[in-house]
Amino acid sequence: MTISDKLAARIAQTQAHLARFRDQPLGHLIGGQSVSGTGELFENRSPVDGSLLGMVRSATGAEVAQACEAARDAFPAWRALAGSERRRILHRIADLIEARAEEIALTECIDTGQAWRFMSKAALRGAENYRFFADRAPDAANGLSLPTDTHLNYTTRQPIGPVGIITPWNTPFMLSTWKIAPALAAGCTVVHKPAEWSPLSARLLAEIMLEAGLPGGVVNLINGIGETTGKALTEHPDIKAVAFIGESRTGGLIMAQGAPTLKRVHLELGGKNPVIVFEDADLDRALDAVVFMIYSLNGERCTSSSRLLVQRSIHDAFVDRLADRVARLKVGHPLDPDTEVGPLVHPRHLDKVLSYTGIAQADGARVAVGGARCQRADLSPDGCYVQPTLFIDASAGMRIAREEIFGPVLTVLPFDDEAQAVALANDVPYGLAGYLWTGDVGRANRVSLAMDAGMIWVNSENVRHLPTPFGGMKASGIGRDGGDYSFDFYMETKNVALALGNHKIQRLGV
Ligand code: NAD
Repeated sequence: MTISDKLAARIAQTQAHLARFRDQPLGHLIGGQSVSGTGELFENRSPVDGSLLGMVRSATGAEVAQACEAARDAFPAWRALAGSERRRILHRIADLIEARAEEIALTECIDTGQAWRFMSKAALRGAENYRFFADRAPDAANGLSLPTDTHLNYTTRQPIGPVGIITPWNTPFMLSTWKIAPALAAGCTVVHKPAEWSPLSARLLAEIMLEAGLPGGVVNLINGIGETTGKALTEHPDIKAVAFIGESRTGGLIMAQGAPTLKRVHLELGGKNPVIVFEDADLDRALDAVVFMIYSLNGERCTSSSRLLVQRSIHDAFVDRLADRVARLKVGHPLDPDTEVGPLVHPRHLDKVLSYTGIAQADGARVAVGGARCQRADLSPDGCYVQPTLFIDASAGMRIAREEIFGPVLTVLPFDDEAQAVALANDVPYGLAGYLWTGDVGRANRVSLAMDAGMIWVNSENVRHLPTPFGGMKASGIGRDGGDYSFDFYMETKNVALALGNHKIQRLGV
């Protein structure tokens, strides 16, 4: 079979998986039951060619309330279940994700435009998230012993209650598992609202969780528009905490919407992450990482390094090599195994990303590579394909150096010395991740400590270790995910003080 025969077979296989979504509007899963819903319908189209994947229902206020009440009613029994039993069910979910990993990945590729080479791993990463938190479920309640002369203090954790989980359209399956798995392991029940531009894999995940034996109501899935369905979820009094991944502006709205009911919020928001390349770095490896960290996942990645800060002494040579690599990136159909950059998620997002070419030029920067739609005979003219783009001759005040573009677009800024590199790195509203490349261990530590970002990678791209904290500073968010940090969010810490004997009690009113 030639590549195009193989691709045609892949597309046919995917269409068979997707047929069910075309047959009837995608509704909700509430209390273990499929609910078709009565709310407005919206279209879900593929960014590959603009074809209609199906219609989706937006949950009404009453349906959101029904889901929150189902989560509330399921909470006492789920919370009371032994941690070992929660562990067993979560491992079963991981088994079923692995068994359907190909279907999940194919669905995600067509729904979001992400390339197969990355999505096939993302589905398996989702299973890993369940296994990781499954194994921690039995000990999630454990706390500290803090004795004094008179009292034994001990802390314990208990699940906060039903939680709302709101996810974005970039790698939606992986991000949903990343939030839902620790919530369930902690003993919380969940109402999940996925993004309206990529609702399909959330349905597969919810079905898998029910099939694995999760009791009805422990996880509920509602589809819908953020400003209505999502808002109602964040306002519902039965929801005790909201875990949100999305744009910084939406994060602010969610805090405000949850304020009257005193919701705990965890916000994982946008980024404009720097990668700093010093002249003493291993420049071959640095180049590989720079290209990977902005052009993989279509650049639709919160931790992408969208600003390259490169030392002036090596700037021209490094940028020449970079431009050559960017120009060679393979844009194509997401199911083609050779594709490195697929179509962007939605025509509105495509327009936003493309608008930065004009913005860059108006501000005085230069387009070294790309900057326009990618139009080729083998790509659908209705697909959201964009040329991988490199902006050079930029300066820190320009919009391309400050705003999250969230596409395969890199802005290069030169610097002279370490102090200027740090100043440039920190000179944005965001503070999610920072990357730096240097052969000097002292400099690596100094710069890591000086960067205002929640996560720093030195001489590395974004390699995740699940127990480590994940999250951002400044406009990039509030709170941390990963390992025990996730449990701190989904659980309340309680202190019990136990008198050891007859300590003195003040006697009043004697
Ligand atoms: P978005 O904020 O537009 O939407 C995210 C979700 O919020 C969607 O489900 C949407 O329906 C919902 N929503 C929108 N308005 C709402 C409201 N008023 N109340 C409740 N829910 C509402 O974000 P997006 O465009 O889908 O995702 C891209 C963004 O996500 C980027 O900024 C990216 O950096 C960020 N992101 C951050 C991380 C991280 O870990 N920090 C990870 C992935 C993505």
